[in-house]
Amino acid sequence: MASSLTGQVAIVTGGARGIGREIALVLARDGVDVALFDVNPQQLEQTVAELRAMGRRAEGLTVDVTDGKQVDEGMAKVLDKLGRIDILINNAGITKDGLLVRMDDAQWDRVLTVNLTGTFLCTRAAAKHMLKQRRGRIVSIASIVGIIGNPGQANYAASKAGIIGLTKAVAKELASRGITCNAVAPGFIKTEMTEALPEPAKQRLMEAIPMGTLGEPSDVAQAVRFLVSDAARYVTGHVLVVDGGLAM
Ligand code: NDP
Repeated sequence: MASSLTGQVAIVTGGARGIGREIALVLARDGVDVALFDVNPQQLEQTVAELRAMGRRAEGLTVDVTDGKQVDEGMAKVLDKLGRIDILINNAGITKDGLLVRMDDAQWDRVLTVNLTGTFLCTRAAAKHMLKQRRGRIVSIASIVGIIGNPGQANYAASKAGIIGLTKAVAKELASRGITCNAVAPGFIKTEMTEALPEPAKQRLMEAIPMGTLGEPSDVAQAVRFLVSDAARYVTGHVLVVDGGLAM
């Protein structure tokens, strides 16, 4: 049976690897054509090849989400090559951790610029097209750190809390035009980032997570899949926490 998503076009930022790649693959399995915006050309090529091998139309665009001109040009290329923009997934994100008193201005600025300004620039550009279509789905990847905080991550926590505020403002602004805007807030997910944690830190983390295990990228991707599907047509301004119970 064809999914309600078949034939739609999605943009996934930071989609070349990690959670973004998994989101792209899950959407493609549902018949979605996908454009990836990323700064990692080798990884982009690889993920685009995987998407095409699934029979989907796919484009990998080298777009830095912090550059408004590149974002606007990227959106225009997606419209030219894939014809429409139905779904935007703001996933590109970075960390530059450090304790508050040792955090320098550059660490603060870079994380806020990639995570929050990047989300704003892509949301604004995609919304212009979605408003014309009177239909669209926007999902941004926040983090439970934006809800409960985390020592050593003042910049990251502020950027992710900012994404939650942005999501709610945009949801209210665009709701009457058939556009929903939601966020997914993952807890700790098995990626290269969490692989790098020392074993004792991992152990402490497992003990704090009620479900006793880290999440998989597919756990985040399935939450995104729900929020962009017709099943979530009446859900907007929501923050869907995917964390095994950690933030409770
Ligand atoms: P990864 O670092 O594995 O992947 C992020 C991708 O985004 C990379 O391909 C990266 O390129 C790309 N990217 C970085 N900066 C930019 C930019 N300026 N413009 C476009 N693309 C960019 O991250 P994860 O998959 O772990 O995380 C994805 C999202 O999920 C992030 O927003 C993160 O904050 C969030 N998250 C992750 C959690 C986790 O446990 N992993 C938990 C909670 C939230 P490059 O390879 O060159 O760096």
